[in-house]
Amino acid sequence: MQRNSMRPVRNGPPQPSGRASAGRISNGMRRFGGRPFSGRRPQPRGRFSEKKIDISRYINTTVKQSEAEVFVPAHAFADFQVDTRLRANIAAKGYEVPTPIQDKAIPEILSGKDIVGIANTGTGKTAAFLIPLINKVLLGKNEQVLIVVPTHELAIQIDEEFKAFTKGMRLFSVCAVGGVPIRKQIAGLRYFNNFVIGTPGRIKDLIERGVLQLARFRTVVLDEADRMLDMGFIHDMRSIISKLPTERHTLFFSATISFDVEHLIKEFLRDDPVRISVKTGETAQNVHQDIIRVTGGASKYDILHGLLQKKEFEKVLVFGRTKHGVQRLADVLRSRGHSSAAIHGNKNPSQRQRALNDFKTNRARVLVATDVAARGLDIPDVSHVINFDMPKSHDDYVHRIGRTGRGDKKGKALTFVD
Ligand code: AMP
Repeated sequence: MQRNSMRPVRNGPPQPSGRASAGRISNGMRRFGGRPFSGRRPQPRGRFSEKKIDISRYINTTVKQSEAEVFVPAHAFADFQVDTRLRANIAAKGYEVPTPIQDKAIPEILSGKDIVGIANTGTGKTAAFLIPLINKVLLGKNEQVLIVVPTHELAIQIDEEFKAFTKGMRLFSVCAVGGVPIRKQIAGLRYFNNFVIGTPGRIKDLIERGVLQLARFRTVVLDEADRMLDMGFIHDMRSIISKLPTERHTLFFSATISFDVEHLIKEFLRDDPVRISVKTGETAQNVHQDIIRVTGGASKYDILHGLLQKKEFEKVLVFGRTKHGVQRLADVLRSRGHSSAAIHGNKNPSQRQRALNDFKTNRARVLVATDVAARGLDIPDVSHVINFDMPKSHDDYVHRIGRTGRGDKKGKALTFVD
């Protein structure tokens, strides 16, 4: 929350050891470069058997960086018709060239169009909506923007970016997220805020307490809408949207477009929104992907310990399936001398934020996470993603491995397959 005693009061507006082997399929089959299996396909076992996880999708040894399409933006940041202070803050943040989603979305949002952005984290989508919306509130100081996101961490991330872009502008924001005392948020909402960024449950709570009135919020961003659906926020989302003016500007971002997501687009947006897709492929092009077969009762803990002893595993994000499993794994790794933090739903938001900061600032080399806790996180320079437990779906897999190989960096993703 931006604070200023002068602000107006609201008045209206590897090569692992042991019996496991990287990239080698048991029963004599070896790894392959992304081609389909020939011969008998090993069947995944246990709880996943009925989900038909195809482990061939976790292997991609050919990283064809040179063949990746080079994006040539149609605009420079200087071309966007935005306030000069905003332009200066963009430059101060080190952004030189717009990313594809920024290149396409910023002019459309500036001209007031509704947007469906099909983009995942790492594409620069936050700035794609923040830059034109900050300009909008600079043009009309009574403008208010609501940003609804699935997780506490994503809200904080967006708020941090908001603060960097609005330095020196006397624009204000409140983070309305769950799991932390509501008192401070209520106090913040007593003042006029240009931006309210929050999670659906807490936003709804604040509306019900009468401290957040949405009638004057003429712009709404639904970020990671597919995740909010997955997390069961649909009723809260509907309830929040129903409190907004019907004549409004709606920006909708989702990494995937399913039948349910299409339904939401029809429900929440004006007819014919501008659709912008920046998803280039099924998985990140610059992530080298491979599997580690865990055979004959080898210990996954031992294998992971072996990997983490290698120097190239500089900053490692490990995914586990359950909250308890994730906590246990972090404890085991710590007991074996690896600086590790854990992030999962049994931790309160400030504990999660601390774990995340430890990882971001390299106090912890390893972050062990559940899918939900790691959603949408932007962590620079992750060298490896390790799927200690297999993801539940290919979609989760894509989200997980997208945490490495960001920007023009290369990353590695390893999936334990037992
Ligand atoms: P996002 O997809 O919004 O989470 O952004 C991913 C990362 O890219 C963040 O660390 C941003 O600060 C960074 N980023 C976004 N846009 C640009 C840009 N035009 N140039 C350089 N970095 C950017």
